[in-house]
Amino acid sequence: MRQPENELAELNQASLLRKLATRDGSLQNFSSNDYLGLASHPRIKKCYQDAIGQYGAGSTASRLICGSLPPHRELESLIANAKGTEAALTFSTGYATSVGTITAVVKKGDTVILDKLCHASLIDGARMSGATLRVFPHNHLDKLESLLASSARKSTPDSRILVITESIFSMDGDAAPLQEIATLTRKHGSLLMVDEAHALGVIGPTGMGLAEQLGIQDQIDFHMGTLGKAAGVAGGYLAASQAWVDLLVNRARSFIYSTAPPPAQAAAAAEAIRLIRDEDGRALRKQLWQNIETFRDAAKRPHPCASAIVPWMIGASDDAVALSTQLRQLGFLVPAIRYPTVPPHTARLRITLNATHDPESVRQLAAAIQHTADAR
Ligand SMILES: *Cc1c(COP(=O)(O)O)cnc(C)c1O
Repeated sequence: MRQPENELAELNQASLLRKLATRDGSLQNFSSNDYLGLASHPRIKKCYQDAIGQYGAGSTASRLICGSLPPHRELESLIANAKGTEAALTFSTGYATSVGTITAVVKKGDTVILDKLCHASLIDGARMSGATLRVFPHNHLDKLESLLASSARKSTPDSRILVITESIFSMDGDAAPLQEIATLTRKHGSLLMVDEAHALGVIGPTGMGLAEQLGIQDQIDFHMGTLGKAAGVAGGYLAASQAWVDLLVNRARSFIYSTAPPPAQAAAAAEAIRLIRDEDGRALRKQLWQNIETFRDAAKRPHPCASAIVPWMIGASDDAVALSTQLRQLGFLVPAIRYPTVPPHTARLRITLNATHDPESVRQLAAAIQHTADAR
């Protein structure tokens, strides 16, 4: 029998061993997805605390048994309203949302067409669904179109073709050509699912993401995202037509067979959605984008940033880990991202900017990275 020690030794040999480190509060944190600082925002914390007082600690059962409480409904109607859809459903995590949604929507005989850089939760959902999997190179519209055409040729009148992309890619920070993808998908009569995990709170006039920014929310069948990143709390959402949401309630196993998120968590997430959309959210978004610009200027990055995620490409895993360790010694928490999170030989530092960063520390980080990278 294979022993776990041997597998761990192999991972270590390849500089791919991962360990859980407790966050060191003395470090300047450039690794969190808490883009607006809502995880520690007084409005969110107060709402969370009050809701615990009103509803208690946990939901006690699955939503379909007796776990559906007013905060869950309120959160879902807020999200549906913000996304311009008839309905929305919330899950315990974004991961559970991806897997639950994709496995409910497609099955054997259907096709899923995914961008190569899609998040693991989307890939896992697609694999578990039993549908035929097709992958197009990152943001490659011609290849997407040929996959759409060939899948449509092979499909029966009853079968579904589901295109999946992220709006902002989690490890590269770049944007999908969402308008073009939506147009192609509609042209071929297929369905489109967009994961806005890293765009919610960051992009769009009311922070609802890239689809809102482009004014194409009505061209997307499944709007997906997490409430654990810019929203600062936890959970995932899927916004769609009423019929699709009703189908998810009946078919999404990660929704049906899991205890509902604590009602207080839903109440706090609802407050986060309200905050993201009102003047407090607008002000935080402005600070965030100022910090993104400050970093870009100080680091002399040639291109404008599409998001709060800045990848610093290194290549070899051991080099990326060494650089991350050096930065830690200088007081900065910047993670090295390695295979299998990113393709082999594309290890990188992943810098995330937050609204709460002090601009001076942003400049210091840019200088420190340039200095340590150059010294290698
Ligand atoms: C983080 C992330 C998820 C998963 O969301 P969780 O709430 O953390 O489970 C899904 N998709 C993308 C693109 C992500 O970055």
